[in-house]
Amino acid sequence: MHWSFAIAQEIIAKRKDKTHVVATGITPSGAIHVGNLREIIIADAVHSALVTTGVNARLIYVADSFDPLRRRYPFLPPDYEAHRGKPLSEIPDPEGCHASYAEHYLQPFLDSLDILGIKMEIFRADELYKSGMYVAMIKDALAKKDELARIIADVSGRALPGDWSPFNPLCKVCGRINAAVVKGYDLAEEEVYYECTCGNKGVASFRGGGKLAWRIDWAARWKIFGVTIEPFGKDHASPGGSFDTGTQISTHIFNYPAPYPIPFEHILLKTTAEGAQAKITAMSSSRGTNIPVHEILEAVPPEILKYVISRVRPDKHIEFDPSLPLLNLIDEYEREIVGVGTGIAGKIPFRHLITLVQIARGDFLTLLEVIKRSGFELHEQDEEELKELKKKARYAENWLRTYAPPSVKFELQRELPKEELQGVSEAQKNVLGLLAHYVQGGMTLSAEEWHNKIYEVAAGTNIEAREIFKGLYTALLGKPSGPRAGWLLASLDPKFLKERFEAAAKL
Ligand SMILES: [Zn+2]
Ligand SMILES: [Zn+2]
Repeated sequence: MHWSFAIAQEIIAKRKDKTHVVATGITPSGAIHVGNLREIIIADAVHSALVTTGVNARLIYVADSFDPLRRRYPFLPPDYEAHRGKPLSEIPDPEGCHASYAEHYLQPFLDSLDILGIKMEIFRADELYKSGMYVAMIKDALAKKDELARIIADVSGRALPGDWSPFNPLCKVCGRINAAVVKGYDLAEEEVYYECTCGNKGVASFRGGGKLAWRIDWAARWKIFGVTIEPFGKDHASPGGSFDTGTQISTHIFNYPAPYPIPFEHILLKTTAEGAQAKITAMSSSRGTNIPVHEILEAVPPEILKYVISRVRPDKHIEFDPSLPLLNLIDEYEREIVGVGTGIAGKIPFRHLITLVQIARGDFLTLLEVIKRSGFELHEQDEEELKELKKKARYAENWLRTYAPPSVKFELQRELPKEELQGVSEAQKNVLGLLAHYVQGGMTLSAEEWHNKIYEVAAGTNIEAREIFKGLYTALLGKPSGPRAGWLLASLDPKFLKERFEAAAKL
């Protein structure tokens, strides 16, 4: 049983709610990356498992757009120093293309969700506050301020300052949401009185004039949406951590049972430079050690990205290495589940397509020729089939460009690589001459026939197959290694192949 069904069964047994609400939330303070995506994939999987089991369930995502910009991240221009402490929804887009800072990082992520086929109800925290959805919770929190402070101190062991307030006013003069002290409030008028460190004294409305401190905000959100299930990074799950605090706040202040928690381990980014030791780092937007979701989706089909994350139980960490290990996972997926893409695209393994697009040098019409030569039946009149193929080929090209290790890359040499062939023995060259005979009348052999032929020639000439491979790779690619030889030879234009092998033999 997939872990998502096991979790769904446990939730159904534990909570008798009529409708389950699975909640997610990511702060759009920088590019939303593959590490962040785990929360979404887990929530989506559990939501699907609930629905499949016949339970009513919603899947929601709340963007923490009303959170302050904590510091000027390295990717921000120097003048963004001035925006520290302001809510992300109220800061201009650093690149000027969206309505706000928050939208600039949120929108590409929402587009990625579409590509991934994940449907969630999307909410923005600033809009929730401005619409008044939090008013009742803010009143409760202010009225029970002392009890709240006691809970936070007891659970987290953190003593709060005397002027602490559960509500953080948004200063109308400096625009910061983390700099003012609450001096009093009026529950009937629904406003607080504050003094800001900038010198301003003002009045802030419960409707968008500020927000609840985040541990309280989290618990308030559970009640507002009726959240029953929430996945979150394991750092929040430590004893005395934010989930423990949230649970106490939810139970004792808001009179609502905390959701069923699904703490999950991190996704670590593994990078392996060939010949060097692998480097493993936590993904972080602020440190630049991450791959944004919208970027990886240019090089990896969405079903693969989902597979890579959902095949691992939430309590196990994932080492994400977008180079060869990712290619191996694509192999595994295509072998054990289904080929990526419909029609001919689904029949050509991704790994093989990696070879074909390199032979075609990025030209789609050449790619179609190469595909036909390598023995696949192509329906050239079928537009849908060509579209799917083009899509898969683009993934292959982008993966090659961005993540492939040098060992997978090759370049078909337009001219005979004379210099490189100097390292090839006479005997090896003679074998190339022999192989040229098998291309007759513009006809080449199939991948399997080529493979067998090479071993047959090896046995007949007493040259090791390995040496024959080296010779033919050098003649074609200018280096002693390359993709599977049978596939390579079968994919090449027979006339080119014959001439190249003959020329190499004569050298
Ligand atoms: Zn933008
Ligand atoms: Zn101020």
